[in-house]
Amino acid sequence: MIVDVLIAGAGGAGYPAAFRLNKAGLKVAMADPKGELGGNCLYQGCVPSKTMRELAHLYLRARKLLGFNEVVSFEKVQDHKDFVQETRFKQHKQELSETSVDFYKGEVEIIDNHHAIIKGEKDAQIEYKYLILASGSGPFVPRFPGSEYCITSDDLYKYKTSIRKLPKEMVIIGGGYIALETASIMNVLGTKVHVLVRSDRVLRGLDTRLVSSLLSMLDKNIDIKFNSPVIEVQKVGENEYKVIYSEKSEKKEITADLVMLATGRKPVYPKGIEKLGLAIGRSGVMVDETIVSSVKNVYAPGDVNGRSMFFHSAVRQSLVAAHNILAGTPIDYMDFESVPKSIFTIPSIAYVGILPEEAKRRGIEIVEASYPLIKDSRAQMYDEAEGEIRLFVERGSLRVIGGWIIGIDAPTMINEIGTVVANGLTARQMADYADQHPMSNESISYAARSIF
Ligand code: ADP
Repeated sequence: MIVDVLIAGAGGAGYPAAFRLNKAGLKVAMADPKGELGGNCLYQGCVPSKTMRELAHLYLRARKLLGFNEVVSFEKVQDHKDFVQETRFKQHKQELSETSVDFYKGEVEIIDNHHAIIKGEKDAQIEYKYLILASGSGPFVPRFPGSEYCITSDDLYKYKTSIRKLPKEMVIIGGGYIALETASIMNVLGTKVHVLVRSDRVLRGLDTRLVSSLLSMLDKNIDIKFNSPVIEVQKVGENEYKVIYSEKSEKKEITADLVMLATGRKPVYPKGIEKLGLAIGRSGVMVDETIVSSVKNVYAPGDVNGRSMFFHSAVRQSLVAAHNILAGTPIDYMDFESVPKSIFTIPSIAYVGILPEEAKRRGIEIVEASYPLIKDSRAQMYDEAEGEIRLFVERGSLRVIGGWIIGIDAPTMINEIGTVVANGLTARQMADYADQHPMSNESISYAARSIF
């Protein structure tokens, strides 16, 4: 079959471009071995983990505010998670049926710059003008003795997971956002969680002040051990594992019924990718802001380029790629800097734009505007009145270049600050806005007004 565009992967980086290009009249083929749209995010990533997180938060609130004291049914939590995933699979099927995109359940293998095979139930030969590599990412699994006994987040969150009994004791290896989010969720649901962090800090690369605030707010029942690299995992019983790690050069151990590796994610490349002769860097396929790779008919949005591994970022990158393919010349550009990011711990944090450490590195002088959530009415309603909203404002222009929210509704509210950052608005414009009362957003305007 001859197509204008072949898309490898039907996640956030794949299907938005497929729909856009198809709507504009191009012939599009898209393939994914899952046979579903939504990628790893929906199948085993953000949607299921955040569903579990919301239920855990609800349970915590009911316990704290209403005296609810029943033990949570983990099976019920997992059933609801599966239900949400099914709902979205169906929704995407409907959306796909409204297009004329040729969707294949199968894996793309590259033959050369204009040819590929889709390996599936029936192999299909495809000739394409443009290729969108949207094959995403998967967990990075380090090898050490007994690493085969560890699950990854994919196993816990995947659709119809077999992990349906709440572990009593769980070890999570890693110090990134997946480790901390999973620790928070499982801790609230009733598991004793230990987190083994190799170095002396979590969330490497993130502004240290923000990280310290988050750590100080996490439930003290979560046992985070710093400078504690894992040495070995032994299976000592039916569902029992001994995790041996070193702490201050001493060998120590924890026995747990579930051990999860959360040691980062790495790009997934289709077979035969080397035939394209693409430049591949340390984090993935190299792309510029137009999302084109070093080969001019190959675009690589989303996790596969490793620049901003978030579903919502992938969606926008996918559209940028589609617009540039349609125009045949660069007309659209990805704004990587204004992508909001959240750590969905309980409580959560969210941030966007340039934070103080980065501003200092770039020599940008900032003024900080802030508001403590202890004064926020909605935070008081939930008795979650800790944390803050903080805006980073360029001295002189008063342009808001970044911000963070620590505490209630952070991942929802960060989008308002993101819109301000992306559009170059000023703290004055934010201060003039009548944010909704009594919602936590009103504290965003209060934060902006703090410097006037
Ligand atoms: P992104 O957010 O960048 O879209 P995801 O990891 O969520 O990333 O989704 C990538 C999708 O690509 C997954 O559903 C995966 O099954 C699919 N995929 C991976 N390799 C191939 C391939 N060779 N051909 C087709 N699809 C692929």
